[in-house]
Formats: sequence, C-alpha cells, structure tokens
Amino acid sequence: MVAKVIDGSAVSLQVRARCKGRVDRLRSERGITPGLAVILVGDDPASRVYVRNKGCACAAAGFHSEQYDFPGSSSEAEVLEWVRRLNADPRIHGILVQLPLPGHISGDRVLREIAPEKDVDGFHPFNVGLLAIGNPRFTPCTPAGVMALLDSEAVNPEGRHAVIVGRSNIVGKPMARLLLQRNATVSVCHSRTLDLAAMTRQADVLVIAIGRPKMVTGNMVKRGAVVVDVGINRLPDGKLAGDADFDSVLGYASRITPVPGGVGPMTIAMLLQNTVSAAEHSATMACEEGSAVQRPTPQGQGAGRTARHGFKLWRRYRF
Ligand code: NDP
Repeated sequence: MVAKVIDGSAVSLQVRARCKGRVDRLRSERGITPGLAVILVGDDPASRVYVRNKGCACAAAGFHSEQYDFPGSSSEAEVLEWVRRLNADPRIHGILVQLPLPGHISGDRVLREIAPEKDVDGFHPFNVGLLAIGNPRFTPCTPAGVMALLDSEAVNPEGRHAVIVGRSNIVGKPMARLLLQRNATVSVCHSRTLDLAAMTRQADVLVIAIGRPKMVTGNMVKRGAVVVDVGINRLPDGKLAGDADFDSVLGYASRITPVPGGVGPMTIAMLLQNTVSAAEHSATMACEEGSAVQRPTPQGQGAGRTARHGFKLWRRYRF
C-alpha cells in the first residue's frame, strides 16, 4: 500500500476562494471590508515568516490587514495597551497575537485581553469554553484546518479511533474536542504516555503534533490509517520536516499529509475564514443593534436606553 498524499495547498485555495466570495459580498452588500490585525513581538524568524504569509493571504482575499511589530524588549503593558486599542477599532474584526511571545510577557494575559468576538485564533478562554461544550464560534485554526482536510477526503471520523499525539492548547486539545464532536473515539498521547507506539498503532485517524522531526515511523502506524502530520520542523540542512517519517509512513497509511503543503496552508485559510465570520457577525450585530435602538417603545426614551443596555449585555454574553 502506498498512501495517497493529501494536497493541503489545493484544499486551502478552495477555502480561500470561498472566503474571497464572502468578502466581496460583505463589501458590496454591507460596505464592510474584513480587517485583521497581527501583533508580532520580537524577532523570531519562523514567526516572521508565518506573519508575512498571513499578510499575503489577507491581501489576496481582499482583507484590510495591519501588522504591528514590537521589539522583543517591549513590556507586557505596551502589548496589552495595543490589544485594547485594536479591540476598540471598528475597522478591525480579528486580532491575532503571534505566539510564542518573549518570556517576560504572559501569553495567557495577552490572549485574555483580546475581545472574544475578535479572537479569530480561538484561544480566549471564552472561545475555548464554547468549543469545550460543543458550540464553537472560533475554532483554533490548525485543528479546524485538519478537520477540513479530513472532510475534503470524505474521511468520516464517526466511530473510528482517533489518536492525537500532543496535548497543546493550540493543537492537541482543540483537535481532541473537534474529533469528539464528530463522534470519534479519541485518545490523546503526550510525553508521559508509556507506550506511544502501542497507542498510535490503534489509530484509524492519527494526528501528530509533537514538534519532533520524523518521530512517528511507519511501524508505529496501523495499515490503512489516515495520518495527519501537523509538525513543522526545520532540519539542520534548512529543509522542513514533519513529525512523521514521511517515507516510511507512506507504506502503511492510506492517506497522509505532507510537510510542507499539508496542514500549514490550511491553518492560514482557516484564519481567513474565522476573520470573515467575525466581520459578518459584527455586521449582523450592528444591524440588530440599529433596529433595537430604533424600535419605538411605549415607555419612551428611558425604556429605549434600557433595551440598548440589555442588548449590549446580551451581546457580551453571547460570546
Ligand atoms: P507544543 O510544544 O506546545 O506541544 C507538543 C506536544 O507534544 C506536548 O503535548 C508534548 O507533551 C508532546 N510531546 C513532546 N514530546 C513527546 C514525545 N516524545 N512523545 C509524545 N508526546 C510528546 O507544540 P505545538 O502543539 O504548538 O506544536 C506541535 C508541532 O506542530 C510543532 O512542530 C509546531 O511547529 C507545529 N505546528 C504547526 C502548525 C501548522 O500550521 N501546521 C500550527 C501550530 C503548530 P507534554 O504536554 O507532555 O509536554
């Protein structure tokens, strides 16, 4: 058996084309251009590349995009202040803080400062909670991209054993929640898992997000499994490699994502999708708020103010 290689670049282009259509509709029907702001702190070369790629994708989809580069010496207070400004900026519908942040800045604190309705990465505890209860608004982009790839291959996880290697907040945990929502039986492995190979060999769907090049080899994969390799690792020769040993897994899996060209492009596509959703949501809320304000009330103006206040509270708690 030689696995089919899933073309993440091609699938991502389809998602991006659909986003572009939604952007065009928003602009022509509502006069709104989706806006994404990206904050980068420090000089991490990989982060710079990711941010540049996101910027290019935004431009191609017709977004308004802004990038804020902070020196690595910036204080947490400065970054928080900038996030607050972007929260209040009506041209910006999505805010992304590129991780990792320098050690003296708390990623948790910065992510919590982002308004949940602009949290297009889906990392704010409010959005994490919505995903946990099975009612996601903004699904973290990488796991969302993995699900879109599985769908593009008509891989239905229902009733299958999905094994995820890695339990980060960014990939592993939300991945587990999404697969559980789709009725897979989910196992999550990590660095303390005693016999990793025994677990991975049970997987019908194997998602690997470890950050260790070529760690999962063919003999750790069940014959016919679908293998999704999230890892992106720079090898000493400058080439990129995933967490799966691609050549050896090819002989066991039925399908496999390559690195590069697998999950990576999907992550960016899902970021665009989340940002368009945020812009559409904000347009709908503005419209509803407008009609709530204009609705005549028998009690007069005072009651109108109460209705507006109630609406704002409702909006706050909807996210
Ligand atoms: P983290 O370092 O946050 O998490 C790595 C996870 O792997 C942890 O849960 C860790 O376990 C687990 N792990 C580490 N070593 C082992 C081991 N020997 N056996 C089993 N589990 C192990 O990484 P991320 O989740 O952020 O990223 C994972 C990979 O995915 C990286 O290569 C990253 O570059 C890539 N990535 C790719 C994206 C894309 O768009 N394609 C987006 C985001 C990430 P423990 O919790 O016990 O420490």
